[in-house]
Parts: sequence; structure tokens; C-alpha cells
Amino acid sequence: MPIDPTQPYDDNNVFARILRGELPSKKVYEDDFAFAFHDINPLAPVHILVIPKGPYVSWDDFSERASDEEIAGFVRAVGRIARDENLVAPGYRLLANVGANSGQEVPHLHVHLFGGRRLGPMLAR
Ligand code: 5GP
Repeated sequence: MPIDPTQPYDDNNVFARILRGELPSKKVYEDDFAFAFHDINPLAPVHILVIPKGPYVSWDDFSERASDEEIAGFVRAVGRIARDENLVAPGYRLLANVGANSGQEVPHLHVHLFGGRRLGPMLAR
């Protein structure tokens, strides 16, 4: 069931609970602005979710409300994780779903980082 990205942030969403350590995750990276962990249902050999530490529902919410420091910190973290995973030379894909048309399921911004194989066409036709 896709989430409604226009609703206020829900403190009890599953990624908020992972951030607070209330639910387990396979952590990949953490700094002041970002937390990254392996997707529970990987769609590629590398499928990492990168989330901001702050309470943002989606890319829309983050790009509108986050501070320049949070945005810079988060974007730099995503790039760093891809480099740390040796994904730059073979190539990788970033994806952030927002709302119903995209099928966003969790109402805390997450960037999917896919790699480890040829990823195929950008969208199903
Ligand atoms: P969305 O469709 O919202 O862009 O992606 C949500 C992603 O979160 C899915 O790929 C799903 O497998 C992943 N996911 C959902 N619940 C959990 C969880 O509890 N732990 C982890 N590691 N991933 C989750």
C-alpha cells in the first residue's frame, strides 16, 4: 500500500524505528546526517537503503524543509557509500520513490542504491 507523501511525518514508521535502534538492520554506514543498511528484500546483489537522520517523509519533504547542511551531508554520504562499495567503476543506480505513482511504501525518505550487476532498463515498459 503506497504512502501519502503529503501527510505529516510518522515517528513510528519502520525506518524511524530502525534509526532509534528499536528494530534491527544490517548497517552499512552512519554519520551525523545519514544511516545506510541493506534492504531486507534485495533486488540486486547490492541493494542498500540510505536514509537521512532527520524526520522527512520523502524527497519532496526533504528538499523543501531540510537545511543546506543536512542536504549536503546526505548527498555526500550517498556518494561516499557507493565509493566505499566499489560501485563507481562498474556503475550503479540511485532511486527515490515519492508517493502513489512510484509505489513508495515507507514514509521516511530513502534512496535505494543498486549495483553488482547490469541493472537493465530504467523503467518497466
Ligand atoms: P519503497 O518502495 O518505499 O521505495 O522501498 C521500501 C524498501 O524498504 C523496500 O525495498 C523494502 O524491501 C524495504 N524494507 C521495508 N521494510 C524493511 C525493514 O524492516 N528492513 C529493511 N532492511 N528494509 C525494509
